[in-house]
Amino acid sequence: MSSALGLLGGTFDPVHYGHLRAAEAVRLALRLAEVRLFPAGDPPHRAAPVATAAHRLAMLELALAEFPGLALDAREIARPGKSYTVLTLEELRAEAPSRPLVLIVGADAFAGLPTWHRWTAIFDLAHVVVVTRPDSQLPGTPSGPLAAAWRERLQRDPAALETRPAGAIYVLPIPPQPVSSTAIRRALGTGPEGVDAVRGLVPPAVLAYIDRNQLYRSRPDAT
Ligand code: ATP
Repeated sequence: MSSALGLLGGTFDPVHYGHLRAAEAVRLALRLAEVRLFPAGDPPHRAAPVATAAHRLAMLELALAEFPGLALDAREIARPGKSYTVLTLEELRAEAPSRPLVLIVGADAFAGLPTWHRWTAIFDLAHVVVVTRPDSQLPGTPSGPLAAAWRERLQRDPAALETRPAGAIYVLPIPPQPVSSTAIRRALGTGPEGVDAVRGLVPPAVLAYIDRNQLYRSRPDAT
């Protein structure tokens, strides 16, 4: 078992099997004891979440009951201000200076990394594991600001992530999961038949919670 801690940030509006299976795939591939999902309180690069933080947390808790190796870390919800990943990584680094941190991002999120607050500092704090996502090209060799990081940091052997606390990029192809929170919100916004459309994409307990609390119902902002 590796001593590294896995981390998956997101809006989780709502959490779905794409998030959960990606996190679990990385956990198993890198032999991590735990992957923590950390929901953003105030995501910097997008509109405010549709569901409240309390609802998003409640849905995550229900979802994680199916995945004993995954855990919830609510620090970004508790922290005032924008939910910058770099601040979360700095907190985690201060807690355990030599423990490897493994930040998991989908290929779409990785492509946008240079827009993140203090993005180059992220490599000083954590390894970055990129998981494949349908419709998102994995950077063969990315151009632009990611090119140098890719050239210097890409590792083909995951064992390299255990030998130091941060700084590597590793790509893990996972079975394609064509699901997104946006598509789920859109489907649910179409009415009761939308609930059937998303069955199988989110854990049943999460779907029951959404239904019970009438989340994502026909709202103009449910995009
Ligand atoms: P939205 O549609 O609202 O943008 P999303 O489904 O992309 O949401 P986020 O909470 O924004 O979900 O994603 C958090 C992280 O999970 C990101 O790194 C994203 O790339 C990754 N991720 C989300 N869905 C998948 C998926 N189906 N396969 C692989 N990675 C995913």
